Amino acid sequence: MAKILIIEDNEQNLYLESFILQKNGHEIVQARNGETGIALAAKTRPALILLDIQLPGMDGYTVARELRKNQTLAHIPIIAVTSYAMTGDRDRILEAGCTDYIEKPINPDTFHLEIARYLNGGVTRGTAA
Ligand code: MN
Repeated sequence: MAKILIIEDNEQNLYLESFILQKNGHEIVQARNGETGIALAAKTRPALILLDIQLPGMDGYTVARELRKNQTLAHIPIIAVTSYAMTGDRDRILEAGCTDYIEKPINPDTFHLEIARYLNGGVTRGTAA
């Protein structure tokens, strides 16, 4: 069981992701914009960060870059949760420092299993130096 920070401005997505992960025993910290997300990451030191790319104000790419600049947070897996499925966006997401991405809409039946994979350290793609 892990502490997971969700940075997501869409209330339905935030609710669904939180609900599924809490049901599977995880502790959830919520942020509805990038600035709050960065502050809460530093304050709560989550084991994993789920990051929406389309956020009001600071977008997800910028949030990922800012998180990677902070040495105490740089090791935390960041999983982008995004409706963007274009190849260029995938590259952009990984270049920004995200570990991987999950496409929206999330599958409620498998979402927690995907997250468990990242928590167990099974995915190293895009891991920040
Ligand atoms: Mn959004």
